Amino acid sequence: MFASQFKINFLRNLPISRYYPTYKRLLSASLTEGNVVVVQQPNGGEPLQFPSVWLRDNCQCSECFHDNTKSRQANWKRINVESRIRSINGSHENNALTIDWQDDHKSTFTLAWLQDRDFAPANRKRYIEEVYKPTYQLWAKSEFQNVLRTFEFKDVMTQDKVLLEWLESLAIQGFSIIKNSPHNVTVVRQLADRIGYIKRTTYGEEFEVKSKDNARNYAYMMTPLPLHTDMPYYEYKAGINILHCLVQSQSQGGSNLMADGFYIAEKLRKEFPKLFEILVKTPVDWYDIGKDGDMSFHNIWRAPTICLDVDGRYHRINENSTKRDSHFTVPLKQVAPWYEAYDKFVELAYAEAVDFKTAPGDVFVFNNLRMLHGRTAYEDSPANKRHLIGAYVDWDIIYSKIRIIRSKNAINC
Ligand SMILES: [Zn+2]
Repeated sequence: MFASQFKINFLRNLPISRYYPTYKRLLSASLTEGNVVVVQQPNGGEPLQFPSVWLRDNCQCSECFHDNTKSRQANWKRINVESRIRSINGSHENNALTIDWQDDHKSTFTLAWLQDRDFAPANRKRYIEEVYKPTYQLWAKSEFQNVLRTFEFKDVMTQDKVLLEWLESLAIQGFSIIKNSPHNVTVVRQLADRIGYIKRTTYGEEFEVKSKDNARNYAYMMTPLPLHTDMPYYEYKAGINILHCLVQSQSQGGSNLMADGFYIAEKLRKEFPKLFEILVKTPVDWYDIGKDGDMSFHNIWRAPTICLDVDGRYHRINENSTKRDSHFTVPLKQVAPWYEAYDKFVELAYAEAVDFKTAPGDVFVFNNLRMLHGRTAYEDSPANKRHLIGAYVDWDIIYSKIRIIRSKNAINC
């Protein structure tokens, strides 16, 4: 297919595959009529292909690219769409190609740099999965014990390797438990600082989850807390929730409930595709009105229950019965079908929810864009008051940390 696609089409001025006196084979490349540069790989792998406009835009010379800041510094106002290649030559140094442009500019690209940016599907997939975001492992209730990862607090705090494994577990399985953290109120901040920094919300930086008289938030009561995600009413919804158990209830209740929202969405997609479409396409009005300390707030965010990213991957689940507004700003005819779809989603979520009870010293951490979580009812007594401390960190910060540690590891290898 490749041969027929590029046969004869070839170029104008080009490819030069010469042998230097050292007999080292130089990179060779050719240009199609569609202005795509085709680079032959020395190892015989599939040829690499790059549109010439992209090569011109990504010239790495010091005039076009500021290496210190890793920033493009040419083409700020107009892209040089019409730039044409005069010739392409294998360069003697670094296994590179040098391109002479008709506007008398010259660009050099190393083979390694080009390979890393190859447009072939397999390479784009590799970059997305290995560098952008790891692939989610969706899990059913029956798989909970297999996907549960536990880590020691002191290892997470002192070893980058364990920190990376912990963050990867949050990215891939969506949750984990850290054991044996010290009995003090700074644990969630220590963990957030170890990654980067806490996300502040309406409820402050660290927040306390314990039963309060005149609670300002539904979570601050002893009643059951339905499966939900935190803060669907924020455009910039908190990424992970770090919940440190200081005192657990000795009563029957106080267990955590959790279901993998992406797994539930996938199950809905397979078994009830029409209902899935409704939950992907119908915006819901999420809201939070109230006061915490001196701060009054009125937050609203309109978004579907199931949000997909640009590649069609699961991106974010919004579900919180307590924070779903009675304003529902969709056309009348979409309302009843949405309830039918939502009811099925909730039914599947409860059927696939696991329950477990954390112990003092445990830190339960989960992806708040993905996991539905809740709590069973409990009873405080004068001598035993359930007490958790929580904090949030955003995914931007976590993915960045994952990439930083991975690239350090790669360099050290
Ligand atoms: Zn340049």
